[in-house]
Amino acid sequence: MINIKENEHLSIMNHSCAHLLAQAVKHIYPNALFWVGPVIEEGFYYDIDLGDETLTEEALEKIEKEMKKIAKDGKRIVREEISKEEALAKFANDPYKIDLISRMDEEETTISCYTQGDFTDLCRGPHLETVKELKFFKLIKFSGAYWKGDAKNKMLQRIYGVCFENEEDLNAHLAELEEAKERDHRKIGKEQELYMNHELVGAGMPLWLPNGSIIRKQLENYIYEKEQKLGYDHVYTPCVGTVDLYKTSGHWDHYKENMFPMMKVDEEEFVLRPMNCPHHMLIFKNKMHSYRDLPVRIGEFATDFRYEASGAVKGLERVRCMCQNDAHLFVTPEQIGEEFKKVVSLILDVYRDFGLKNYKFRLSLRDPEDKEKYFDDDEMWNAAEAKLREVLNDLGVEYFEAIGEAAFYGPKLDVEVKPAVGPEVTLSTCQLDFLLPRRFELSYINSKGEKETPVVLHRAIFGTFDRFTAFIIEETKGRFPTWLSPVQVKVIPVNAEFQGDYGKEIKDYLAENGIRVELDDRNEKLGYRLREAQTQKVPYTLILGDAEKENNTISYRLHGEKDTTTLPKEEFLKMLKEEIDSKSLRK
Ligand SMILES: [Zn+2]
Ligand SMILES: [Zn+2]
Repeated sequence: MINIKENEHLSIMNHSCAHLLAQAVKHIYPNALFWVGPVIEEGFYYDIDLGDETLTEEALEKIEKEMKKIAKDGKRIVREEISKEEALAKFANDPYKIDLISRMDEEETTISCYTQGDFTDLCRGPHLETVKELKFFKLIKFSGAYWKGDAKNKMLQRIYGVCFENEEDLNAHLAELEEAKERDHRKIGKEQELYMNHELVGAGMPLWLPNGSIIRKQLENYIYEKEQKLGYDHVYTPCVGTVDLYKTSGHWDHYKENMFPMMKVDEEEFVLRPMNCPHHMLIFKNKMHSYRDLPVRIGEFATDFRYEASGAVKGLERVRCMCQNDAHLFVTPEQIGEEFKKVVSLILDVYRDFGLKNYKFRLSLRDPEDKEKYFDDDEMWNAAEAKLREVLNDLGVEYFEAIGEAAFYGPKLDVEVKPAVGPEVTLSTCQLDFLLPRRFELSYINSKGEKETPVVLHRAIFGTFDRFTAFIIEETKGRFPTWLSPVQVKVIPVNAEFQGDYGKEIKDYLAENGIRVELDDRNEKLGYRLREAQTQKVPYTLILGDAEKENNTISYRLHGEKDTTTLPKEEFLKMLKEEIDSKSLRK
């Protein structure tokens, strides 16, 4: 999708289109007052006070028609400078404009206004020369938006739109929006009953329904198995910690605004944890370690809580309660390269299994000139950064370096994945940390018998299970590979009266062999039941008629296909199991 904000001409165009929108609104609603109308990545919006009026789809169409009419008239857009006093007088009846003017810098004595025909708005500009250039635009949607984003303020109406230079670009953009809507995990999540939200539980706190939980459990099992093979030890730790724990880790000083507020229980002060690194530090510290034990790899599917503005939470993608696919690897400085290589290889392995191809690695390094911003151990930094580069080069991974983007406590690798629609998302991360082990006074005995501090690698492959699930829903459009599908097989007897028993027999046979299977023996037309299995995106539909019953076979149809294939039930099960065990992707 084109980022309008990053394109200068399109930005000017879209902002001019916002003025055109305001003018049209003013024609239809003479009492309308206007707040701000900025350009955003996807186009523009304008926040409007319509008094008691509320918008409808029809109203939006009407406004768009009026915009076309004004644009056709082709009035020039004229800039004018007026003094602050003049502006205050001119907009004396408009509290929104008064607010804007009064918040201007002291030094600014004049204000620019833009006028097109009968409409004038305060604005810094720049704008197009004439409204005639606005031909290929579309109003997308509307929503409520509190004035200044504060729920205590009045709710304004926000209208979104977008404008392009030609019809092809506009149509391509609209098609992409349509595709994004089709893939939206919130829509599919509802249709397939994957998760829900409830106001009594709270914003950003999704409840995983049985179907969604199947997917999550499969993801957990999948990554757990991989981690186990790589020598990870999985643990369970509580999702609270004391304030002192987070003072020790430094989160209390640097991360507090992302945390839930403190709660007092008896004399102890607790917080819901925003991350579980401190817990794992303590597990490492619980016993003496020799260099021979290292690396120690502690993994957990850890529930964490982070503050997100209520307006920012979104489905499973941005939540306040999340489950991390987390692990902390404790290594000697010499082991950094080797362990890092294993993490990157695991990422590549997982991405291959999920068929992800469109991604890039980003290596965040320190700015060597900026000594203040980074943990002070030159030798450590230089050695570690060289190692990370070497590993990425060895593995032949394409990456780019972001100088000065490293965290205070160490360099970092993350993977930006380009989804089917929308902007890139960061899924996997691997962060080196020289500092946290020191804050917790961790140590191991090195080969010379001396105490030494380990280095920690924080890493998450899926990121969070929540976000990864949202991602997979949108990538597959809810057409999950068979191993992840909540229902893998739907059994449909042609006529329940004649083949109902056989349907039940096949269902039981598959279920006993670990297949997630449903029987649809309702007294509905075959075509209707087949269509429903299609909409539910079940990978395999079995159609059982007299022939199947007599020969002890099944006939299956793959989702999205018309052909049926007939097989003995044992062969079908064998084929299905192979597909599930190999975690094949769907074509
Ligand atoms: Zn403007
Ligand atoms: Zn961590």
